[in-house]
Amino acid sequence: MASITIAGLRKSYRNTEILKSLDLSIKDGEFISFLGPSGCGKSTLLFCIAGLEEINDGSIRFDNREITELGPRERNIALVFQDYALYPHMTVRGNIAFPLQQQKVDQQTINKQVAWAAETLGLESLLDRLPSDLSGGQRQRVAVGRAIVRNPSVLLMDEPLSNLDASLRVRMRTEIRRLQRELKMTVIFVTHDQEEAMVLSDRIAVMKDGIVQQFAAPMTVYTDPANHFVAGFIGSPQMNFLPAGLSGYNNDLVLGVRPHDINPAKAAGDGVHFTGELAFVESAGPVHFLDVMVGGHLVKATCSDPSGLEPGSQITLKAPGHALRFFKSGSGARVHMSSQH
Ligand code: ADP
Repeated sequence: MASITIAGLRKSYRNTEILKSLDLSIKDGEFISFLGPSGCGKSTLLFCIAGLEEINDGSIRFDNREITELGPRERNIALVFQDYALYPHMTVRGNIAFPLQQQKVDQQTINKQVAWAAETLGLESLLDRLPSDLSGGQRQRVAVGRAIVRNPSVLLMDEPLSNLDASLRVRMRTEIRRLQRELKMTVIFVTHDQEEAMVLSDRIAVMKDGIVQQFAAPMTVYTDPANHFVAGFIGSPQMNFLPAGLSGYNNDLVLGVRPHDINPAKAAGDGVHFTGELAFVESAGPVHFLDVMVGGHLVKATCSDPSGLEPGSQITLKAPGHALRFFKSGSGARVHMSSQH
């Protein structure tokens, strides 16, 4: 496995700059997600690392070895795509063995490696089946088996779970994480799903318009977002954004507060209060979401017990000082206020 250092990377398609002087240092054995909305450049960056796209400027190093000029095969990477890209006429065994056969590895080693990959991924009983006789999750596992069978330096995954149904996605992501820990692989995982990135990653590179907005551990991007964009992209339901003037702060600022941090006020005290009309109560099992109109703005709040809360009635909400985040209205840059601490 390898560490990856990207410095000053630029990538344009014709006259459009897609990646804008990008720097990232990924440690050996880290699980990294590239997270951002569609079109922000995640796959382009992954393909640049894979050697499938040439870069216009900058450098990429694996373990301090410059690989910018090397082709994909010489980089010893493995790619797993959303659509699996299995060979339909080959059995599971044939698909997993294929990269080793291409490298002219001897048959004994191939048998040993295929057996290892199949055991690691629970595919032993499926080795003689064709891809058409497998479920979506099993096909995805075969694609992962084919990727790991030759011990790549880096495993690159481009939205690998997007074609699976919701419950299988959750199971597969646990498997991928277990596998990464077991094999101590360096993994880069492209996704637009913030929850997937949060649960899987050691660190997340949150991207927008070809720029890494923040590169940090999941709980850091959640609790300490670098800007308005990151604060809004991470977390579900989304953070509330309100004119800070609503709670007595400077109106050039936007106040951000997560729905889980804003609750019906039981008593006065520390924090900010908002009074408005309760529009809607949405029950999601252990937590209940409250939609409250405050000065023409919708505020999403939470509570554990909604009994006695009637839509149409006035309600006072409270958020503690430590849960407040502030951003500049125009640029979205984070502003640190001393009263937060
Ligand atoms: P993401 O993976 O974040 O959805 P992509 O990296 O696929 O985004 O694309 C980033 C931008 O680059 C998009 O605007 C896309 O249209 C553009 N793009 C991607 N590939 C090409 C290409 N081969 N030629 C021209 N433009 C491209």
